[in-house]
Amino acid sequence: MAINVLITSRSFGQVSDEPVKILRENNINYKFKEKHGLMEEKDFLEVIDEFDAIIIGADKINGNALNSSKRLKLICKHGTGVDNIDIDAARKNGIIVTNVPATNSNAVADFTFGLIIDLLRKISDNIISVRNGEWVKTIGVDIYGKTIGIIGFGEIGKRVAKRATGFDMNILAYDPYFIGSSNSFPYVKFVDMDSLLRSSDIVTVHVPLNQNTINLIDEDELNKMKKGAFLVNTSRGGIVNESALYEYLKKGHLAGAALDVLKVEPAQKNNPLLTLENVLITSHIASYSKEALNAVSMICAKNVVKFFSGQSPDFIVA
Ligand code: NAD
Repeated sequence: MAINVLITSRSFGQVSDEPVKILRENNINYKFKEKHGLMEEKDFLEVIDEFDAIIIGADKINGNALNSSKRLKLICKHGTGVDNIDIDAARKNGIIVTNVPATNSNAVADFTFGLIIDLLRKISDNIISVRNGEWVKTIGVDIYGKTIGIIGFGEIGKRVAKRATGFDMNILAYDPYFIGSSNSFPYVKFVDMDSLLRSSDIVTVHVPLNQNTINLIDEDELNKMKKGAFLVNTSRGGIVNESALYEYLKKGHLAGAALDVLKVEPAQKNNPLLTLENVLITSHIASYSKEALNAVSMICAKNVVKFFSGQSPDFIVA
């Protein structure tokens, strides 16, 4: 029987034809989702029986959809975070879930640093003023010599630390599940969350979204941050409590924030954070470099081929 793959990630194969070619050459039928936005439970329920595999983007696939699937065998996340997939339901239904770890980490780390530089030196702000015919002399603050606090010292957090060494920063990290030797990172001081929040000029978040990390940065944590500090989140919306963040920015406790991810994406027009001048919001594009996107698509395509030719796919999550 033919193998049918649903592709819900719009960025799959967007950079080159190679990933699609791999599917085609292996006689795998593929279909991109029809819906313009993210697919939801009812959208999956309508089509799930047609497919053996899904290459999934940010669309949320829940237990009801997975329990009702009759032929689904494989879900390949086109990215790292699998918080949009009900892993327990997949496991119960014998559906293999894979992701693509460490492949877009450099892209995300670069982007995180891009946000940090933009936020502290007000680059976007100034560009907008110049475009509007103003020749203002915007004054920012140095990145050089500041203390950066990295929450979550995984693939991305480690690469952010490496970049921070180039700026002669003091580097703090907090990760209660860190595996490895801190000796491999002599330029990083491992501290508890409290010390990190109280000592950092810039706090940057790189943890997965799960039950333990929802609102990890809430009012208490923002309150502990230094007056005039900056917060950066390129991990997932929901990890930073946006209402609390708004309050702490509005009252001037924090000097600014940069967010690549929001609790509700796309950004809602009435999201109050959009009204603040000291907030940079990007549309979840930290991993969107040509190289990273293509590499992620290639791994997904190869995993589909591997799985349906009887081999074990790479990076099985469940
Ligand atoms: P990773 O699994 O390599 O690292 C995550 C780290 O967070 C781990 O070391 C883990 O021990 C740590 N951690 C877990 N819970 C924690 C907690 N409560 N406090 C402190 N540390 C904790 O993942 P990664 O590749 O570094 O990616 C991190 C997250 O970034 C992903 O889960 C994903 O959600 C997000 N991401 C976003 C984009 C984007 O486009 N914006 C792209 C890729 C990944």
